[in-house]
Amino acid sequence: MAKGSTTHEVFNQPPPFEDVNLFTSDVALQEAVMREGGGYAAKSLSEFGLAMGCAEAFERGRLANEHLPRLETHDHQGRRRDTVTYHPAYHACMESSFAQGLHSSVWQHRAARGEEPRKGANVARAGAFYMAAQMEAGHCCPITMTNAAVPVLLLQPEIAKEWLPKILSRRYDASFVPAVQKSSVTLGMGMTEKQGGTDVRANTTKAEPIGAGGPGGEYLITGHKWFLSAPMSDAFLVLAQAPGGLTCFLMPRFGLDGSVNALHFQRLKNKLGNRSNASSEVEFHGAYARAIGEEGRGVANIIEMVTHTRLDCAVASAGLMRLALAHAIHHAEHRTVFEKKLIDQPLMEQVLADLALDVEAATALSFRLARSFDHAGDPKAAAWRRLMTPITKYWVCKIAPAIVAEAMECLGGNGYVEDAPLARIYREVPVNSIWEGSGNVMALDVLRVLQREPEAAEAVMEDMGQAAGDDDHLRAAHERIQNWLHEPKLLDPRARALIEALATLAAATILKAHAPSDVADAFAATRLSGSPRQTYGQGLEKSATKAIIERASPNRS
Ligand SMILES: Cc1cc2nc3c(=O)[nH]c(=O)nc-3n(C[C@H](O)[C@H](O)[C@H](O)COP(=O)(O)OP(=O)(O)OC[C@H]3O[C@@H](n4cnc5c(N)ncnc54)[C@H](O)[C@@H]3O)c2cc1C
Repeated sequence: MAKGSTTHEVFNQPPPFEDVNLFTSDVALQEAVMREGGGYAAKSLSEFGLAMGCAEAFERGRLANEHLPRLETHDHQGRRRDTVTYHPAYHACMESSFAQGLHSSVWQHRAARGEEPRKGANVARAGAFYMAAQMEAGHCCPITMTNAAVPVLLLQPEIAKEWLPKILSRRYDASFVPAVQKSSVTLGMGMTEKQGGTDVRANTTKAEPIGAGGPGGEYLITGHKWFLSAPMSDAFLVLAQAPGGLTCFLMPRFGLDGSVNALHFQRLKNKLGNRSNASSEVEFHGAYARAIGEEGRGVANIIEMVTHTRLDCAVASAGLMRLALAHAIHHAEHRTVFEKKLIDQPLMEQVLADLALDVEAATALSFRLARSFDHAGDPKAAAWRRLMTPITKYWVCKIAPAIVAEAMECLGGNGYVEDAPLARIYREVPVNSIWEGSGNVMALDVLRVLQREPEAAEAVMEDMGQAAGDDDHLRAAHERIQNWLHEPKLLDPRARALIEALATLAAATILKAHAPSDVADAFAATRLSGSPRQTYGQGLEKSATKAIIERASPNRS
C-alpha cells in the first residue's frame, strides 16, 4: 500500500521533529540551569519545554513568520492610524511568553516593597527564554526590551511606580489604548538614527522641555529613529538631544489626555529574518515624553537596558543553535544513506559531535552570564558580568550562523526549503550579532573594561586561572591571554582574537568543571589547541564522538 502517493511509497524520511520537551530532551540546558541556580524552576521549565516543543507551538512560529506584520499609516479617509497588525499566531507567541513571565519575572520582587530579588531568577528566565526563542524568535524582541527597560525606569521612581505594575502583569494585552486602560504593557527602545546607531552621540532628534524639564520632566520630541522595533509597544525608551545634552526619555504611545502620541511610522523594514517582529522607521512630530534621569546622562542611563538585551541575544542564539543541532541529530538518527544510518557514518559523526561541542559551550557561557546577573552584588560576579557580557554576546552570536548552516546541511536538501525551520533559523541568527552592539562594538567594550576597569579583568582571569587547574590546554590558553594583556599597544588590533580566546577559555573551564570529560576534553583539545580549522567536522579523531552525540541527542534514551 503506497503511503502518501499513488506512484511510490514515502520512506527513509525521519518522523517530524515535534512534540518534544525542549527542556527534558536537552541535557546541556538542564545541567546549566541547575548548576547556575535556576533549579527551583525545573518543574515549570519542564512544562514550558513541553509547551514550546509541541507541534502547535512550532506551527505558531511558522505562521507568525509567514504572515508578516502590516503597517497602516492612515485610515481610508486619510486620518493617521500608525498601527501595525500582526497575525494571531504572533499574539499567541506573546501570550505564552507573557504567561511564563519572560518579560518581567526577574523584577517580580519589585511588586512589594522590601522584597529581595530571587536568586536564580535570571537563570530560570534564561532557561525559558532559550526555549521560547526555539518556538519563535521574533516575538522575543519586545519580550526582551520590556524586561530590559525596567532597570532604566527604576532610575525615575515616580515613572516606575506608574508603569511597573503593568509590566509585572502576566496577562498579555495587545489592545491599542492608553496604558492605564490595559492589563499589561510592553516597552521598546529608540536609539538608532540614520546617521548613527553605534555612535548615538550623533543623534539629531531634539527634546524641548514643556516646563522646567529635568528628571521626570515633560518634553516634546522632534526628529526620527531609523530602527524602532516592536512599534506597537506601549512606550519606548528614546534618546534625544535636550538642552543639557543627550538624554533618555520615556515616550508613551498615548499622551496624557488619551490622544495618540505623535509617532508617525514611515514604513516597516523588509528584513532578512526576524520577520514576525515589526521594525519600523519613525518620525516624532513633537511627541510627548518624560525624562528619565538628568539631561546629558542619556547613554549612562540607558546602558543597563542594553546590558540586559545583550544577555538575551546570547541566550536566544544558544537556543536557536540547539534547535538546529537537535534537528540535525534527529535527521541523522533516522535517515539511511548507503545502507547505514547517517549517524553511523564516520564523517557525519565528526560533524555532529563538533557542532554539539560549540552548542554546549555556548549554552554553558550564556547561563554562567545569566548567573552573574543574579549575583551582581558579589564583586566576582559583577566582574564576570562586566567583562563577559560583551565577550559572551560576541562569541555566541557570531558562531551561530556557521553552526546553523552546517546543521542545515546535515538535513541535505530538506534543510534548505522553507517547510523545515532550518531555513528560518538560518535567516534569523545574524541579527543577534548586529543589534544591541555589533562585533566591533563588543570588542571596543572589552577594551574599555581593560582600560577603565582593569580590576574586573584581573578578577575574571584569576577565576579562570584557578579553574584551569593542571589541564595543559587550559593553562596554555590562560598564559597566552595573560601575555597578550601585558602588551597593551597590541590590544586594539588584537581585540577580536582576545575575545575569542577569553570566550573559549571561559567555556572550557565551565565544561571542565561540570560536563563529562568526553565533552570537556574534546572542546579544549580543538578550541584551545589543535590544528587551525575553518569548518566543522575536524580534529575529533581521538575523541569520544559517539558519546558526545548521544549526550546532545534530543531522542536520548
Ligand atoms: C532587525 C533590527 C532591529 C533593530 N531594532 C532597533 C530598535 O528597536 N531600536 C534601536 O535603537 N535600534 C535598532 N536596531 C539598530 C541596531 O541596533 C543598529 O543597526 C546597530 O546598533 C548598528 O548601528 P548602525 O546600523 O548605525 O551601524 P554603524 O553604527 O554605522 O556600524 C556599522 C559597523 O561598523 C562597526 N563599528 C562601529 N563603530 C566602530 C568603531 N569605532 N570601530 C570599528 N568598527 C566600528 C559596527 O560594529 C558595525 O559592524 C535594529 C537593527 C536591526 C537589524
